[in-house]
Amino acid sequence: MKLYAPNYYKKFKCIADKCDHSCCVGWEIDVDPEALEKYKSAKGAYGSAVLDSIVMDETPHFKLESHERCPHLNENGLCKIILELGEDYLCGICREHPRFYNYTSVAEVGIGMSCTEAARIILSSPDYAELECIGESNIEPDCIDFDGRAVRHEIYRVLTDKTRNYSERLTEICQRYSINIGEDSIWLNAIDSLEYLDESHRRLFMKYSSGHLDTENNEYRERFLAYFIYRHVTEAFDIDDLRSRLSFCLFCERLFTSLITSENAKSLNEIAVLARIISEEIEYSDDNTVALTELAEAQ
Ligand code: SF4
Repeated sequence: MKLYAPNYYKKFKCIADKCDHSCCVGWEIDVDPEALEKYKSAKGAYGSAVLDSIVMDETPHFKLESHERCPHLNENGLCKIILELGEDYLCGICREHPRFYNYTSVAEVGIGMSCTEAARIILSSPDYAELECIGESNIEPDCIDFDGRAVRHEIYRVLTDKTRNYSERLTEICQRYSINIGEDSIWLNAIDSLEYLDESHRRLFMKYSSGHLDTENNEYRERFLAYFIYRHVTEAFDIDDLRSRLSFCLFCERLFTSLITSENAKSLNEIAVLARIISEEIEYSDDNTVALTELAEAQ
């Protein structure tokens, strides 16, 4: 089936050694069966070094070094697997990151905000609603009764309507889909009970407040919300599911707004770092995403 991507997708290129928050630090990296076979047959000293670096658990993964660095990340921030064996030897996660896919009647790909470079590109791209066909996917299309892409198209039509201010557009989206974000105290309890990669982010997120009404950065807020909708709403299986997913996205947008205000973030870079923190702590944790989506559903 056809594979589509937002126009900004092709702008992404990993900035590797220039990255100030490498995805090769802090995450456990699983090794898929295909990559494992390649490592077993890789020749030379580095082939053996790669095999030695894998914990052969139920899900094989690289043994992280101090400060949770991938053992193949060199002192210059470059990947030794690429340098010594070539890009073909990357495992699936490393080759694909930070890409994600939606599968409905078509396949869609995007870049995830847990990468600050991706966040900078997404937040600087006003044409998020425009998708282009970039090839074919070998996944079979889903037979779906509910068309989340069509609803997303409607939400984007409201979100991009520049005849009204941003706050009016948000109000219309909430009214159309009967969404009530709920009391701050409920969300603060939930924020406090989430799991965190970095404990300082719990304190940061506890600054959440619906009273933070930043208006200077509406374009960044709009693009942040559009990204969350693209990633989380498209695969909804019915209208109730769509409402819960959309409420989750609107909560994340409020959290983003709260952090921009509380941290007095001004530059694209400062704002992209906040987007990256929300992405890695919330949407890259299945448990946190489920907990917040269930809470959104209950409002
Ligand atoms: S976080 Fe993004 S830019 Fe940085 S190393 Fe990973 S993919 Fe590359």
